[in-house]
Amino acid sequence: MLDVEPACSARHRVTGRPDDDGGRARCADVIPSPTTGPGPSGLDAVGTVDAVVVGAGQAGLSAAWHLRRRGFVAPWEPATAGRRTFVVLDGEDGPGGAWRHRWKSLRMATVNKVHDLPGMALPTVDPAEPSRDAVPRYYAAYEREAGLPVVRPARVTRVTRVEPVDPDDGAAPLRVTLTDGRTLLARTVVNATGTWTKPFWPYYPGQETFRGRQLHTADYVRAEDFAGQHVVVVGGGISAVQLLAEISEVASTTWVTRREPVWRDDEFTQQAGHDAVALVDERVRAGLPPGSVVSVTGLILTPALRDAAARGVLVRRPMFERITPDGVAWADGTEQHADAILWATGFRAALDHLAPLHLRGPGGGIMMDGTRVVAEPRVQLVGYGPSASTIGANRAGRDAAREVARYLDALPIPAT
Ligand SMILES: Cc1cc2nc3c(=O)[nH]c(=O)nc-3n(C[C@H](O)[C@H](O)[C@H](O)COP(=O)(O)OP(=O)(O)OC[C@H]3O[C@@H](n4cnc5c(N)ncnc54)[C@H](O)[C@@H]3O)c2cc1C
Repeated sequence: MLDVEPACSARHRVTGRPDDDGGRARCADVIPSPTTGPGPSGLDAVGTVDAVVVGAGQAGLSAAWHLRRRGFVAPWEPATAGRRTFVVLDGEDGPGGAWRHRWKSLRMATVNKVHDLPGMALPTVDPAEPSRDAVPRYYAAYEREAGLPVVRPARVTRVTRVEPVDPDDGAAPLRVTLTDGRTLLARTVVNATGTWTKPFWPYYPGQETFRGRQLHTADYVRAEDFAGQHVVVVGGGISAVQLLAEISEVASTTWVTRREPVWRDDEFTQQAGHDAVALVDERVRAGLPPGSVVSVTGLILTPALRDAAARGVLVRRPMFERITPDGVAWADGTEQHADAILWATGFRAALDHLAPLHLRGPGGGIMMDGTRVVAEPRVQLVGYGPSASTIGANRAGRDAAREVARYLDALPIPAT
């Protein structure tokens, strides 16, 4: 059952607008409500929604929970008059966000750490269980217990501004369009679309001539698929070294990175995490792209990686210059045969659907103030930049709900 925080143990609803209390929202309705919803086909009937959350991973669920806690209700719940409404649109076929797609060998014992969502702890799980089973199961229970109005599959293709009838009308909503062409109007959008759907593939000359298999981390299933082969693993991030270590148990490998990897042998303390987040936060406040996680954390030597190092697997070569039909070739003339090239080259924020809003500035990134997009206060980005971790996503969800409420509070009250 959902654990309602002590201050909210009494079952009561907020009748006014929750105060801005620095994140400690007053008790709203955290009592689960029916979330059967209208089904995707009924979305057309919901009218203008106060907040549309796009994405139901850790960030979207946290934002949704905090909206609910502030008294937001699903548009299809009975007696919504005078209450703020919200809906969560998720592109997946079921709960779990990107965790649905993690490779099977990424077990609960080998993930960095999946933090509890607000109000309901991750149950004790078998450390050997694949994270792609355990985390979606947790999210499914969470959606159900918290009564979150998640509609799926509902993939957003476009968010656009609606031309206001009165040009001074700052309250005009945004139009949210789904893959199948259906639209709904949103006073605010909390974007929580993660990165998994936007794998980054760099281009190297000759790439199209390669006769072996090329895949991205997002396509990786299991090391056994490469048994007896030679695999070139590209990338200097955490996923790259984890996959390199496990593939090297069944195949021969070559590891290439653009930059010399930065290993850290010390403990990754809370302070180190805090400092890493602060660096990314600084970048997005300045309107720069957030950059990779590893660029601020460094690579932590886990026992599995120490073992790989002892086997001589973590010997890094610089990037090759080109790809040949049979492998890869460096500028000095050396070549390496390869049966497969694994591009563990990371992901980018999945924000293509926000392109019509032209949020990117001259720095190439989106200038942020906390979770709020500076150029478009109707849009919050959660799970983006400094909040791209399960713990960061939790906090960002809370902050975004507060910003949404603040924005709605400031809207002119329509004349009756
Ligand atoms: C391999 C790997 C391992 C990781 N391990 C950890 C870890 O151990 N601990 C940790 O804290 N972090 C980890 N992370 C980072 C992790 O991804 C985040 O912490 C967190 O789970 C991401 O949550 P999210 O809600 O931002 O995104 P996601 O979980 O990706 O959820 C986004 C949701 O939005 C949906 N979506 C995307 N686009 C649209 C659209 N246009 N319309 C509608 N829906 C859309 C997606 O389908 C998905 O359901 C890892 C990342 C990777 C790549």
